[in-house]
Amino acid sequence: MTESPARVVGEEAKRIKREALGIADRSKHHKRRAVPLRRRAKETGTQQRVYQYRFYPTVEQAAQLEQTFGACRWVYNEGLALRARAWEQHQVSVGFAETCRALTGWRRAEGTSWLRDVSSAVLQQALRHLDGAFSRFFKGTAKYPKRKKKRRSRDSATYVRTGFRWVEDPERPGTGLVTLAKQTEPLDVRWSRPLPRGEVPVKLTVTRDRAGRYFLSVLVEELIEPLPAAFLPGGTEPKAVGLDLGLATLVTLDDGSKLGHPRLLRKYADELARRQRELHRKEKGSRNRGKARERIARLYALISDVRRDLLDQFTTRLVRENQVLVVEDLPVANLLRPAVGKGRRRKAKLNQSIIDASWGELLRQLRYKCAWYGRTLVIVDRFFPSTRRCCACHAKGPRLDVSVREWTCEECGVLHDRDVNAAVNLRDEGMRLFWSVAMALPPGRPMPPVIKASELPEVHLAA
Ligand SMILES: [Zn+2]
Repeated sequence: MTESPARVVGEEAKRIKREALGIADRSKHHKRRAVPLRRRAKETGTQQRVYQYRFYPTVEQAAQLEQTFGACRWVYNEGLALRARAWEQHQVSVGFAETCRALTGWRRAEGTSWLRDVSSAVLQQALRHLDGAFSRFFKGTAKYPKRKKKRRSRDSATYVRTGFRWVEDPERPGTGLVTLAKQTEPLDVRWSRPLPRGEVPVKLTVTRDRAGRYFLSVLVEELIEPLPAAFLPGGTEPKAVGLDLGLATLVTLDDGSKLGHPRLLRKYADELARRQRELHRKEKGSRNRGKARERIARLYALISDVRRDLLDQFTTRLVRENQVLVVEDLPVANLLRPAVGKGRRRKAKLNQSIIDASWGELLRQLRYKCAWYGRTLVIVDRFFPSTRRCCACHAKGPRLDVSVREWTCEECGVLHDRDVNAAVNLRDEGMRLFWSVAMALPPGRPMPPVIKASELPEVHLAA
């Protein structure tokens, strides 16, 4: 390992920032007395929740948003370059506040005066996102931040409270007129459901997906009451459910019920495979290739919408009915990719990517719903042999090919449905982890909303 150079701090760092990096000093604020930041007291149990709506911009609004997205992307990339240069060339670390001061400079500079056409609060939020990306990198949970590319990265712009106007419609509470900074007309928002009673938007994010659709994400802080605890009959044992994700069925529960891949998704998957074959035949850089790519992006958008809605109803029901929900750290199907012909291989790969995405979405929804409603999500280690273990006698069976849907345990002779057996194993292993955490918890302390096996050092895998 190469030794990392020592960080430059103090007056020397200030000088470098001022002279080499062009970041203005904070002199303006130096003479003013520091005022402590007054934070709005948050009621306990307040959770941030995002509601998403589609909207249709006018031609002017679309043009203004295009400019805003472009400016956000530029500022993000410039901030990234500045932070990288500061460290690589001068061993100085540059934080959020300093990138904001640099932004003031960019807005004043002659060559980049077009940045003045976009609200500075919105551009600061782009730097805030960059700062978040760096924090995740330093924590080790993400890779080094990447430059945002036109048409490759999703376009987005975030407006904090000062960056938009909200006028609630007295006739239809929870809906209203939203006007963004630097725009004159309110947006044409399709309020598919009203915001919760008495809530006002705290933050807005405007996005345009690769299929060219516009969305408004409204963040509100609302009080979410945890649900009463769910117990098994008898009232002492928490009710638990194991979820197995697979190729044949999307989700199988330990009670044997299944959530299939919706026919619609399968149809889209077939179409996607066809479109992708088409794309490969198109010449690189040609107009037709661009068009084919756009069609694929639209399909992906459709697929993710269908999947999100489907999983939303499903996870809400599961979280209502159960106290403990157990999933696997990675779908096992990943490790059992069938080796078949080239065309089928591509299709299998595609199916796999759809399952991976479903799993990601499922996990995301379970995570936040468990936190909201006072449930516990247990994520079992991916090396746990959920498919191979017999749930009746715990004997380890043979490795199973994906095509095998049923198998009989050689030890005890029980016939298993492959997925149900896996779901039962997951539930049992999850409960074992749940109790090991519950026992170690000081009395009166609530259970954490997430237990991840790979983050529990003292828990060993059950044989
Ligand atoms: Zn057995």
